[in-house]
Amino acid sequence: MYATKVEDGVFLLDTYALGQPRTVGVYVIKAPKIALVDCGYASSYKSVLQGLSEVGVSPSEVSYVIPTHVHLDHAGAAGVLLKEMPNAKVVAQERSVKHLVDPTKLVDSATQVFGEAIMRLYGAPAPIAADRITAVGEEATLELGGGASLTMMHTPGHAPHQISILIDRPGALLTADAVGIVYPGLATLIPTTPPPSLDPASLARSVDRLAQTAPRTLLVPHFGQREDSEAVFARTKEGVQAWVREVERMRNLKMDLDAISDQMERKVMYDARTEDLPVYAKVSVRSSVMGILHYLEKNS
Ligand SMILES: [Zn+2]
Repeated sequence: MYATKVEDGVFLLDTYALGQPRTVGVYVIKAPKIALVDCGYASSYKSVLQGLSEVGVSPSEVSYVIPTHVHLDHAGAAGVLLKEMPNAKVVAQERSVKHLVDPTKLVDSATQVFGEAIMRLYGAPAPIAADRITAVGEEATLELGGGASLTMMHTPGHAPHQISILIDRPGALLTADAVGIVYPGLATLIPTTPPPSLDPASLARSVDRLAQTAPRTLLVPHFGQREDSEAVFARTKEGVQAWVREVERMRNLKMDLDAISDQMERKVMYDARTEDLPVYAKVSVRSSVMGILHYLEKNS
């Protein structure tokens, strides 16, 4: 089972990232024109195709592919999927376009962060022809027909080139990583603050902007639907602030990445009232700590 219906005409597809269920999701909006929001890692593109087939969509019927930002868990598979989707155009934030056309810099920077072994698991993004990409700025609307439209809002902070998307009917917000990680089965929120472009102040402003749209429901890539929008927004803002303070305090004590990550894992386990964390949650914690350390380094 790759696909789950979350709203009328809206489906969550599980990409089974690195073989793990319920960690990286993408969404399909099935209106007269069909949009795929996010693509997953390059290595999991077959799961996306499988999910599309479960909801009765053939790749040639997809009109829009919209990577919310160019991190590899969101845009990694875009290039390879587009080869299967001859009628699809890409819509992306203007600052991400150069990385979609030529992913070399992005891959180099991700390899520095994650190392080559992990990058092989993620898979290499394929370049996308510039003439298939439409760039959007601060805000743009995309009509899908049948009364459905998407309002795309620039939501920097997690990454400078991120957009979040309000589905104007039925009032569901595709958050991208503007909100924290909410894994099913882990009763807490992990701030998503990876390197290299974290900006906590701008992240908080983006959360405020999204809260103003008063969405009825949130569709989160990591992972799934949340009805408690206000709580997720509030916990994202509090969480990012608290993590930046905590990591800074430990950094001042000369603790290293391993030691700080270990402490933050304990905090997550305490908050979630659990004795152990799955590997993918540990990876998320470590990546968020790395992003905060990188941010503190840049700003000290
Ligand atoms: Zn992500």
